[in-house]
Amino acid sequence: MSPIVQYAVDAARYDELLIGASRGLRGVDSPSGPCVPGQMRLLVDVVGRLFPCERVSERSAAMCIGTLDKGFDVENASRLLNVGRLTEAACKQCWCFRYCTMCARGADAGSDVLSTDAKLSFCEEVRASAYSKIRQHLFLKEVPLFYATQVRSTNVERSVSI
Ligand code: SF4
Ligand code: SF4
Repeated sequence: MSPIVQYAVDAARYDELLIGASRGLRGVDSPSGPCVPGQMRLLVDVVGRLFPCERVSERSAAMCIGTLDKGFDVENASRLLNVGRLTEAACKQCWCFRYCTMCARGADAGSDVLSTDAKLSFCEEVRASAYSKIRQHLFLKEVPLFYATQVRSTNVERSVSI
């Protein structure tokens, strides 16, 4: 298999694990799995302001979670963590709740506060991505059924090369 294709297959397998691992809704739940702001990939800009990661806009006050001088702005970090509250009603009706990948970055409109409209504008994209992963999951589950011979020979090659 071409290394380029192998990369795509490995990514699909990883997604398959995530999709396959879903166990449905919990009694108290939230969509997506945003990071705990500041815990995973804290970013410090050149003037000492703190942001949850390098992917968010440093021009946006809404994404700033403190400064080196004053420490963490726990209130704002908490708003980013609980970004699900912005669209609570829509999320409760959304089939993608368990597979949502939205974080506060999607709700950043470049102002002081997170934007519900900005967040909702990304929902179609998030749902399309989840839909595609579910399709891949089903496809990969069907491969051994329809291509049993090829799967067997692939397994043999792998066990020899290991
Ligand atoms: S992209 Fe979002 S979830 Fe990922 S590290 Fe940045 S703020 Fe956190
Ligand atoms: S796609 Fe939008 S509406 Fe659906 S769970 Fe995610 S944030 Fe909520």
